[in-house]
Amino acid sequence: MIAGIDLGTTNSLIGVYESGFPTLLADSNGKRLLPSVVFYGNEILVGHEARRMQALHPEETISSVKRLIGRRFGEPEMEGIAGTPGAPVTLALGGQNRTPEEISSEILKRLKAIAETRLGTEIARAVITVPAYFNDAQRAATKRAGELAGFTVERIVSEPTAAALAYGLDKLQDRSKIAVYDLGGGTFDLSILQLDNGVFQVLSTHGDTRLGGDDLDRAIGKLISRKAVLDSFSSSDGIRLHEAARTAKETLSSEEQTTILLPFLKDGESIEMTLTRSEIEEVCAPILRRTRTHCLHALGDAGLRPGDLDQIILVGGSTRMPLVRKMVAEIFGKEPNLSQHPDEAVALGAVLQGAILEGSLHHVALLDVTPLSLGLETFGGLMNVIIPRNTTIPAKAGEMFTNAVAGQSGMKITVLQGERELADDNWTLGSFEIPFPPSPKGAARVGVQFSIDADGILQVLARDTATGSEKIVEIKSAVEVSDEAVEAMLSDSLEHAFEDMDARIFTEARLKAEEMLPAVEAALSQLEGELGSGEVILIREQAAQVNAALTSKETARLKNALANLDNATQSLATRLIEKAMH
Ligand code: AMP
Repeated sequence: MIAGIDLGTTNSLIGVYESGFPTLLADSNGKRLLPSVVFYGNEILVGHEARRMQALHPEETISSVKRLIGRRFGEPEMEGIAGTPGAPVTLALGGQNRTPEEISSEILKRLKAIAETRLGTEIARAVITVPAYFNDAQRAATKRAGELAGFTVERIVSEPTAAALAYGLDKLQDRSKIAVYDLGGGTFDLSILQLDNGVFQVLSTHGDTRLGGDDLDRAIGKLISRKAVLDSFSSSDGIRLHEAARTAKETLSSEEQTTILLPFLKDGESIEMTLTRSEIEEVCAPILRRTRTHCLHALGDAGLRPGDLDQIILVGGSTRMPLVRKMVAEIFGKEPNLSQHPDEAVALGAVLQGAILEGSLHHVALLDVTPLSLGLETFGGLMNVIIPRNTTIPAKAGEMFTNAVAGQSGMKITVLQGERELADDNWTLGSFEIPFPPSPKGAARVGVQFSIDADGILQVLARDTATGSEKIVEIKSAVEVSDEAVEAMLSDSLEHAFEDMDARIFTEARLKAEEMLPAVEAALSQLEGELGSGEVILIREQAAQVNAALTSKETARLKNALANLDNATQSLATRLIEKAMH
């Protein structure tokens, strides 16, 4: 198994491809996001535990080590970090100098342990993602971190490429262009990709390594202290305020308002207030507007205009904010694709990349399912399902049919797809005739078999069992149905469920009535003399009721009338049988 790892600035994730599905793995507390924080004390703590230490032991705790990996002191991005210019960055933590690779390897070790505990097996190989703008030194250092954690690093993959894979965009048309808008906790990137022969090429990337959810938290924190008229606060109060701001921000992505409760601040004061989505949007908007320039830059570098993009996908927890989604739609003049969890897309893509490398992913076709039911139109215009919706392919199923009319000399096979009860409401995939010698009603035997191969090609075989003559028709489009069409068919079938069921019951009752009425008429003409006149009148009356119900098209009335006719003809039927036996 090859694990897929999103080694993020704020959070990291690990997953594997299991039984045909990419799965992200949770720790023993059920958490999938592991904070990318390491604490060096008496023991090394990673993740949530390390984050809890951060307020008390800031000197021994390190977060966002991704900003330092593969860097040298003196590089422009390393301003403010003291060290000999040109030497690889190291940090003094827990009494030792540590490299960013070593620190990152602690995060990777923890992810490895989470996966191994969950799966009960060793995971020795991994795919790790890095930002598209990472240079060779940063990529090599990330690979080394993986090796220090005990992994064989099969590949280093760009985050936007992984995200595009997770969104299923490798199935877009060749040369499709995609914008990946990635706003995380501390960084922003916009990458433009192009699909070339099934592989994503990064056409351009632009961003700000100091722009993200943390900036929004600070702005919201300031808003809270302004509203609470707090002039100053201790550093531990500041951390609590920042946490409260982040929680409020995340809540306000799905709620219109939230309550901030911060009891017992430094000088015994407490904060209790309501914060609305529009209030935080007002203070966040100027920060978020800064992403626009980067988007335009990246588009310019790729020589594209917003209209040239086929898809815009969202990555990073901060893109859950409704205001971000609105701004993205404005910048690109197109709604972003919201089909994946933005904070899991990169990890999922890494898992898929791992599955492709280990060779598991081409089995996906075998695990495909029929998106909609496949069947035949039967006598009376009903849908007869042969292979139900969601059947794993390849699949094979069949049924025997007979002629409904005496003297019939062939059967029309109409292949249908859909979830509706009436043939006309489903889609016709094809139709053909199978001839057979004229035979009495119910005497012909035609076997029909549907088989779908792993590529989704449907073969319909019909064979007259008496003569052995058969016909085979191939239908290519049985599995390739657009998601929208499937959705529309499913919602139609739900919407019309009651009327459809009613139509089916009525049709079945009508077929029964059409069979019964002439049979009753024939029996009466044979046996009328032997029945009491009262009985004959009753039978004729019930038969008339059935006819009337047929015209009225009322299902319940027809079923009732049929039951009454059945009752009234009980003794007639017995006499018929007795007569036939003598
Ligand atoms: P990431 O770097 O992708 O893990 O993103 C982390 C950032 O996403 C943090 O700033 C979080 O506060 C932010 N975030 C997570 N969930 C939400 C949410 N529902 N609404 C707004 N921001 C969120």
